[in-house]
Amino acid sequence: MPELPEVEVSRMGISPHLVGETIRSLTFRTPKLRWDIPVELKQLEGQVIRDIRRRAKYLIIETDAGCAIVHLGMSGSLRVLDAEFPPSKHDHVDLLLTNGKLLRYNDPRRFGAWLFSQDGEHVMLGHMGPEPLTDEFNAEYMLQKALNKRVAVKQFIMDNKVVVGVGNIYASESLFSAKVHPTRTAGSLTLAEWDSLVAEIKQVLTTSIKQGGTTLKDFAQADGKPGYFAQELQVYGKAGEPCPNCGEEIEALKIGQRNTFFCSYCQL
Ligand SMILES: [Zn+2]
Repeated sequence: MPELPEVEVSRMGISPHLVGETIRSLTFRTPKLRWDIPVELKQLEGQVIRDIRRRAKYLIIETDAGCAIVHLGMSGSLRVLDAEFPPSKHDHVDLLLTNGKLLRYNDPRRFGAWLFSQDGEHVMLGHMGPEPLTDEFNAEYMLQKALNKRVAVKQFIMDNKVVVGVGNIYASESLFSAKVHPTRTAGSLTLAEWDSLVAEIKQVLTTSIKQGGTTLKDFAQADGKPGYFAQELQVYGKAGEPCPNCGEEIEALKIGQRNTFFCSYCQL
């Protein structure tokens, strides 16, 4: 599933080919992805793409007549191709440019979304916490936000209303690196612990975006689809294996229905 780093790398991959270009037409080969595809998106035809922004895992393609808000869902991907390149199965959306290129959206499981917004705002983007890679996401903010919260810290950092884009793998990995046990209540962490955890979350996401940066050329290639990058993992998916730090067995349990991996010797 594309996580925040994959979405950011998608934005970096497609932006140079799209920003400043004019949209000739939009073609939808399905009426519905996760939700119905709104007819208002046709208003983007003839418009210049001003910018492509990311908010959480949404990409916002901006024009003066409105925005397309794109979510990759479970299996979506974007590529920039020559206009003549024939569509194949699961190629659900084409955004054709006047320069002979097109942006093609492929999504086998159709859990993604193409939405319309006049001004770049959308109900799907409301009530979201800060972006993890901005200064707004810091230890003082988390300490305040977590005050008296009895929810497990792992669930807390995965809550989009607290901070966006900390997926399940990143949550386990950053808690391990910060030496914080995932079942601790969010309200029990000290400022120093939040400092460490916030730094590790930024680190794991930044590393993943950097790794994905090597795939930027794939966004404009007919062969090879942009993939989801395999992270070098320390604990995630490694139950029963030795902890890379102390050698004791890595344990697993479910927190809020999500698989969680940790070392109960290293994480307190
Ligand atoms: Zn350990």
